Amino acid sequence: MRILVFNAGSSSVKFGVFEEREGPNHLLKATYERFDRGGCTYRLEVRGKRLEGRRPLGSVAAAVAGVPAILDEHGLSDVDAIGHRVAHGGERFTAPVRIDDGVVGAIEALVPLAPLHNPVALDVMRATRVLWPALAHVAVFDTAFHLTNPPRATTYAVPRAWRDAGLRRFGFHGTSHKYVAERAADALGEPLRELKLVSLHLGNGASACAVQLGRSIDSSMGMTPLEGLVMGTRSGDVDPGMFGFLDRSMGLTIQEIEKVLYEESGLKALAGSSDMRDIEDQAAAGDDAARQAIELYAYRARKYVGAYAAAMGGLDVLVFTGGIGENSSSMRRRICDGLGFLGLQIDADRNAAVRLEHYVAPQIQAYGSRVRVLVTETAEQLMIAKEVVRLLRRPEPVDVRIPVAVSARHVHLDRSAVAALFGEGYELTPASALRQPGHWLAEERLTLEGPKGRLERVAILGPLRDRVQVEISRTDGFALGIEAPVRDSGKLDGTPRIGLVGPAGTIDTDGVIVAARHVHTNPADAVRYGLSDGDEIEIRLGNGDREASFGATLVRVSAGAVTEMHIDTDEANAAGLDGAAEGQIVASAKAILRS
Ligand code: AMP
Repeated sequence: MRILVFNAGSSSVKFGVFEEREGPNHLLKATYERFDRGGCTYRLEVRGKRLEGRRPLGSVAAAVAGVPAILDEHGLSDVDAIGHRVAHGGERFTAPVRIDDGVVGAIEALVPLAPLHNPVALDVMRATRVLWPALAHVAVFDTAFHLTNPPRATTYAVPRAWRDAGLRRFGFHGTSHKYVAERAADALGEPLRELKLVSLHLGNGASACAVQLGRSIDSSMGMTPLEGLVMGTRSGDVDPGMFGFLDRSMGLTIQEIEKVLYEESGLKALAGSSDMRDIEDQAAAGDDAARQAIELYAYRARKYVGAYAAAMGGLDVLVFTGGIGENSSSMRRRICDGLGFLGLQIDADRNAAVRLEHYVAPQIQAYGSRVRVLVTETAEQLMIAKEVVRLLRRPEPVDVRIPVAVSARHVHLDRSAVAALFGEGYELTPASALRQPGHWLAEERLTLEGPKGRLERVAILGPLRDRVQVEISRTDGFALGIEAPVRDSGKLDGTPRIGLVGPAGTIDTDGVIVAARHVHTNPADAVRYGLSDGDEIEIRLGNGDREASFGATLVRVSAGAVTEMHIDTDEANAAGLDGAAEGQIVASAKAILRS
């Protein structure tokens, strides 16, 4: 499949042609920018050749109209689909979508949220739908990756009426963060789902993103791309109280302040240039303002890395991308120096030797560093091409149904916990067998004791494990006064503590989690359903008005397992389940990728 990708910015348009195959697959890339007085600058790379110059094209629409002739000239007219980067998808667009009139209308309705970016993307979309009426056109949204952020990360503490009007944090650069997170996991040869990762996209715009369980859980940009890190011309975090102060002391209007925060702030305000190369040169020449700008830039980025390590309960991987993240070894070093308390140490030689081409992702941590540090190109267009292929190859929903089991709160114990709670040498008594072979419910019960409350008669499941694991729902967490993270079973590092009370004693243990939903299956059923170990699938559950779809459901294939989906009581309530139920497999993410 050959994909033509458009990435329209507020004052530039880039396009690229990608071939869907292993290895280098970027056939052509072009950028038109600096539109003024009926002309623009033009850069084209194709088959190792580079062309640059000015063209008599006065607008983004005129540039797009010339694309078919360029493709023709380079023998690349034969494209199969078109991908578009769209800055803002609001709450509606959680994933890439095929563009039709309804989608165009919905993106138009989101213009107030992205007044500089969405209108240009719409212009390009309208033009390409006329130029290539027979092709599939797909919109890929910068905000979509962050729609998995929990409410605590997306909510501003402001009146309900404002929130009802749409005020919330969204996050941007999602296509970039998703790409670099997947690329880093791939380079490390480890499942992304098992990594706590921070992605630092440091370009003209800049943002940090925390990725846990393969999903974005927080991001430094907010309602608009103004919040967060220091950027080329944008301020990043400021105190909203400054609006009143600037009004009273300088007589500035909201519009004036907003324009300055977008266009005249950040590095430009601090050092007189928005270009980090200039600033690094000025700093080397002894310019104090440039030095301070560099320090402030690194300090803000380092603070976000630390904050996200706290949000995730640890950090396994830090990834740098964007023009500054990819090219400035000194900025990478400044940000990383001072993160030693997280077990992060970079190797000066590896850091200095980074050369990025052909989508490589070199590691630059020092030997023995607990946190791996990678650098990689952002490759947003490549990611958009991949998303287009994923969407278009997505199989029609198949009517495969699997049984669903609802896990109420329970505890898995180890040998020493049994001794402490029930007495030395005590053996738990199996009361009934569970559906998974070898697993059973014990006759004994325990009490969970949290800082806020107790839960009595909590079930114990056998057999014994190597480490105590306490599985509660989020609702239970509120009753106990504990904030338990959503984790895959067995991933217990950095989990909160709780008291367990048995007839012979009490213990204080970590290991409290909200179990991530999952599907158990065996090798034979896995083949039948088209699933593999580690796949993440979407399952539809429930009936009538409470029907719900659960994405990111992990598939675990093991010999002898009985095929069954496990969800907790909150999830069951959300889908209106009571008693036995079945779930319908809607889509398998990895199966789509493999196809
Ligand atoms: P982007 O928006 O991703 O193209 O990134 C643009 C930013 O990357 C600008 O601030 C550039 O100055 C910066 N940049 C590009 N190359 C270098 C370099 N070699 N050293 C420092 N900064 C760089």
